[in-house]
Amino acid sequence: MSMRDIDRALVQAATAVAKLRCRSDNHTVAAAARTTDGRVFSGVNVYHFTGGPCAEVVAIGAAATAGAGDLEAIVAVGDRGRGVIPPCGRCRQVLLDYFPSIKVIVGPPDALRPVPVTDLLPETYVWSDHQVEVPAAPRTGVWPMPVVPGSRQAAED
Ligand SMILES: [Zn+2]
Repeated sequence: MSMRDIDRALVQAATAVAKLRCRSDNHTVAAAARTTDGRVFSGVNVYHFTGGPCAEVVAIGAAATAGAGDLEAIVAVGDRGRGVIPPCGRCRQVLLDYFPSIKVIVGPPDALRPVPVTDLLPETYVWSDHQVEVPAAPRTGVWPMPVVPGSRQAAED
């Protein structure tokens, strides 16, 4: 699939944020994401040794904060003129789980292209496919704590 003007604009948006806001080791990557109704949200990574979020995740959060709907495209751009960088494994999984039909712009500068996230994560684990329904425990009206012989029974409220 080739780049449309709106995809090029998305890369430009992320590039502009990277240039403006990624000026320390705390913030080194910017991402821009486009909603299905054409709005663009951006974010920068929040580096921290405890596992701060990547720029893609921050952009997803920014979109959610604004009440935006589905995202249809996303791209990340590195600081210091590094250009478009592909999402890490964790982001691929997050993107797939949140927006299964999103396209991620990847590739070298002269051959950028939007790729379905599913292509970036073949044979993937789909979290929602593995949520087993656990039958609810019968409600008895009392806290289901086993009564230890000789102990005081928990009071009902
Ligand atoms: Zn990531």
